[in-house]
Amino acid sequence: ATPVAVMVGLGAAARKGVLVRDAAALEALGQATDLAFDKTGTLTEGRPRLRRILRLAEASEADLLKTAASLERDSEHPIARGLVAAHGGPLKPVDGFRAHPGGGVSGDLEGVSWRLGSADFLRTPFPEVDEDGIAVGLADASGLKAVFVLGDRLRAETPAVVDQLRRQGLHLHLFTGDRIQAAQAMAAAAGIESVSAGLRPEDKLGRIRDLQTRGAVVGFVGDGVNDAPALAQADCGIAMGSGAGEQGTAAAMAAAPLALLRPGLEPVLAARRLALRTHRVIR
Ligand code: ADP
Ligand code: MG
Repeated sequence: ATPVAVMVGLGAAARKGVLVRDAAALEALGQATDLAFDKTGTLTEGRPRLRRILRLAEASEADLLKTAASLERDSEHPIARGLVAAHGGPLKPVDGFRAHPGGGVSGDLEGVSWRLGSADFLRTPFPEVDEDGIAVGLADASGLKAVFVLGDRLRAETPAVVDQLRRQGLHLHLFTGDRIQAAQAMAAAAGIESVSAGLRPEDKLGRIRDLQTRGAVVGFVGDGVNDAPALAQADCGIAMGSGAGEQGTAAAMAAAPLALLRPGLEPVLAARRLALRTHRVIR
């Protein structure tokens, strides 16, 4: 690569809100055969709202929600923000809080140990939830006490951005830690056919490596702490700029050679245009 050509590309990129830390990654985006997306906060707005509480214990919905929101106080995950917002009131103090990326959170409230997260994380199947939202369970040592169903909206621009990327001949994938029902509903609405759900952070990385083993040049777009391994493994990792300076975003940004400095998916198109142009100038 000639440094001058790279610099032309990078200056233009910065003006479009794309921070390029590694020029080779920008070039890889121009050569990409496959582009994979995280779901929550990437294809979607990342503001899940509580829709329903399935009560599996004697406790009231308000108490169950208070426990869940208290556990989530120090989590940067969009689900956490949704639960805290739905509760709205004062929270209980939590001891030994831990975030488990791609799984959930845990901590002690008034001497009781709780875990809150996916069915995989809790190692407990949830009762049938006949809607396509995100489902997270609340469990103590004696089992599942509640399931919270949250709905997140596709970003308004997602279908159009996905359509343009497909027209460029890219194979598009959705890689998510969420359950398959929620993943398929969002993928269908976005126009993405290849869906992998229930993925832990290292599984997202594994999917990318599988594609690379078959000769693909892979871009990955993600926004969270759970996306950091995939962002680092991809030929071109792109961290979303969901703003707000959240921890998840910071971790994603640190792991990615490209970072979008404006919210939304449109800067991905700008990055790809710049990559194609930079590539052409370099050759
Ligand atoms: P995505 O790949 O869609 O961004 P994540 O990998 O962050 O999702 O999370 C996967 C799943 O793990 C979520 O759908 C949820 O069930 C669970 N989860 C992760 N973090 C949390 C949290 N802070 N609170 C509750 N559940 C969580
Ligand atoms: Mg995400």
